[in-house]
Amino acid sequence: MAQVYNWQLQREMAFPYAEQRPQRQIAYIFDTNKCIACQTCTVACKTTWTSGKGQEQVFWNNVETKPYGGYPQAWDIKLMGLLEQRWKQQVYAGKTIFEDPPAGDNVTGHRPTEEDYAYPNMCEDEVAGMVDKGAFFQGIHNVWMFYMARICNHCTYPGCAAACPRQAIYKRPEDGIVLVDQLRCRGYQECVKACPYKKVFFNAITRVSEKCIGCYPLIEQGIQPRCVVTCIGKIRLQGWLSKPGEAQPNNPIDQLVHVKKMALPLYPQYGTEPNVYYIPPLNVLREFLLQMFGPGVDHAVQAYRQAARDREALAAMLLFGNTPQIISTYSYTDTHTVGYNDKGVEIIRVPLTEPFVVRQPYDQQHQAYRLNTA
Ligand code: SF4
Ligand code: SF4
Ligand code: SF4
Repeated sequence: MAQVYNWQLQREMAFPYAEQRPQRQIAYIFDTNKCIACQTCTVACKTTWTSGKGQEQVFWNNVETKPYGGYPQAWDIKLMGLLEQRWKQQVYAGKTIFEDPPAGDNVTGHRPTEEDYAYPNMCEDEVAGMVDKGAFFQGIHNVWMFYMARICNHCTYPGCAAACPRQAIYKRPEDGIVLVDQLRCRGYQECVKACPYKKVFFNAITRVSEKCIGCYPLIEQGIQPRCVVTCIGKIRLQGWLSKPGEAQPNNPIDQLVHVKKMALPLYPQYGTEPNVYYIPPLNVLREFLLQMFGPGVDHAVQAYRQAARDREALAAMLLFGNTPQIISTYSYTDTHTVGYNDKGVEIIRVPLTEPFVVRQPYDQQHQAYRLNTA
């Protein structure tokens, strides 16, 4: 195994291949506080890419309710259990999936059962905690849940690629998108077992594996992916992420990930350096967030709470969901935030505060009362 540097873990780690970063890395930020679990993203992806035979159980994008929901079922709990067992045998805690895998494997992982894939909505809208004293509004603060939208993380060190005996999975040098070469794939499903996020799916009809393609035909035209553009809650932004030492403060993704440290990777301890970053939910049990997003979670929650007074952060956050085009850089004035494409051309201008309009109930121009005075 080679030694590569994982900046999320701030240390070197074992990986089957030498470090080779793409010219630019696709990245996404999802604000969990704004997701309403409408599943528009899920349907947009499914109707665009995975509506064929053998793809009935395939959800390149899914939205699950944490802490109990998950698709496939218990995908994360099972892996944590495996790693914990391995950690117990080691004095040294904190191994990634690439360090100390079972004999004969490159990666520690598990293959979900058919039953795990059978119930995509299981535990949806179920809360954790107890409602005390039997009355709905008493003890309401003891319960919590949140919606977690998930796609392939286009990892810097993909577990799926590390495990493939055919080298059929590759990371594109031009944008870091991870793809399965379906002509090379022989359906061994080692990638399904190895992906810690369970974002490779086996197609029982074609007998090969499939995964999110990052909507690369759109990316090549400077357009953000379907699941991003269609998001009703405007929780998503797709762009480009630099390495920490090369972060550009005028890149909205770099600003929120590297400068404000408000958006965090999902289960960074797995070691794949995932490139979907989450703004953690407020009002969720801190221990749960620590486990899911790592030690930066307190700072991230604090930064989010202050965002309304932090013009630099607010200007980046208001770009979410407001243009289909990929925003490479941004700037802001006293009144607006402005997004630019990679040629420096302005593509979106959003007010920093919504105008406050008071409309009179009687419309002088039409000499009529307004039905809706909002
Ligand atoms: S479309 Fe957006 S708001 Fe709706 S479920 Fe998907 S991520 Fe959440
Ligand atoms: S999330 Fe899974 S499928 Fe996607 S690149 Fe990472 S390891 Fe591969
Ligand atoms: S990036 Fe494209 S292919 Fe991937 S989950 Fe989103 S819509 Fe589906």
